[in-house]
Amino acid sequence: MSSAPDIRPTWADIDTAAYSRNIDAILARLPRETRLIAVLKADGYGHGAVELAKKCDPDRVAMIATALLEEALELRRAGIGLPLLVLGSLTEQQIVNSVDNLITLGVVGPEELERVANVARDRDVAIHLKLDSGMGRMGVIESELPRVIEMLRAAPRLRVDALYTHFANAGDADDPHTNLQIAVFDRMVRLLGDAGIKAPKRHLANSAATMRGVALADYVRVGLSLFGAEALDAGVSKLEPVMRWRTEIVRLKTLPPNSAVGYGVTYRTPGERRIATLPVGYADGYSRLHSNNSEVLVRGKRAPIAGRVSMDLVTIDVTHIAGAAIGDEAVLLGAQSGDAITAEELAQRTSTISYEVFCRVTRRVPRFYR
Ligand SMILES: *Cc1c(COP(=O)(O)O)cnc(C)c1O
Repeated sequence: MSSAPDIRPTWADIDTAAYSRNIDAILARLPRETRLIAVLKADGYGHGAVELAKKCDPDRVAMIATALLEEALELRRAGIGLPLLVLGSLTEQQIVNSVDNLITLGVVGPEELERVANVARDRDVAIHLKLDSGMGRMGVIESELPRVIEMLRAAPRLRVDALYTHFANAGDADDPHTNLQIAVFDRMVRLLGDAGIKAPKRHLANSAATMRGVALADYVRVGLSLFGAEALDAGVSKLEPVMRWRTEIVRLKTLPPNSAVGYGVTYRTPGERRIATLPVGYADGYSRLHSNNSEVLVRGKRAPIAGRVSMDLVTIDVTHIAGAAIGDEAVLLGAQSGDAITAEELAQRTSTISYEVFCRVTRRVPRFYR
């Protein structure tokens, strides 16, 4: 809520209580035997992985997953004791480093498995093995199973704790591809089992599958829903937004008709207009694609972006907002006086997805935790 004295009035409030309630709401959808893996890659989708990991108590969260080893190490160094899973591919040196730090490897293919088996020659290594059931990106494909089975048989100190896969289109309840992926995954698990590779746990579901109650298995890997964004293409998850990004009006002027505003002169005042300037821009992650193409909230009303978004500044039209003044709060993302700008709205305005809206907010925007 409160800002530091040495920053401009642009920051993001992170509502850790809302985050915690989202965890509870997600857990309420799971059968008792299904546990939650909180996916906090990319600094917790821009929300701050360390602070949110501190809210992941072991009663509710079984593991925290990151994409990179360095992201997992950041959590370890911050004193996070929960089991950690790295989803990305690692070099042999990184594998050694992971094992040293009790970080579980989400092995993504035969090449990485070979590096892991090298490390496992003289020490115990625990992995989750990824199977590609129809995403075509990471994971072992079916034709590679014989080679993988051979490698695992020859590596007695390499323990497969879980088999997992990732859905390509779980947000669309009508796409049969998800069921096809489940069938391919089940078949690959069976082939491994027949060959004596029996992992105790399985996980498939991301946020979208979890919100639909699909393929819940032993764990679900949930990222986006933790932050209250909508994971379903057509749905209402009823989770709470966690990030609220706000700034304040620092300049306010009345411009005569036909005045130019911003780079490229893409906006001219159609009449006399009150134009306010906000100290935020694309260097903060407020996309230049919002130029003449989005709104912010001032005094509970929507003020359109007027002209181009600059690197450090944005101009808005507040003519219709009675009493608008220097120092007024302007909300870029989040709620104000009953209205709200959602991540989905910003995503739609900029032809992307809410994931990228969050990840776009740069380090120049301080995060405050409440
Ligand atoms: C990012 C990621 C997730 C989480 O996806 P959400 O849609 O944010 O829930 C799960 N599994 C893998 C492999 C991922 O890369």
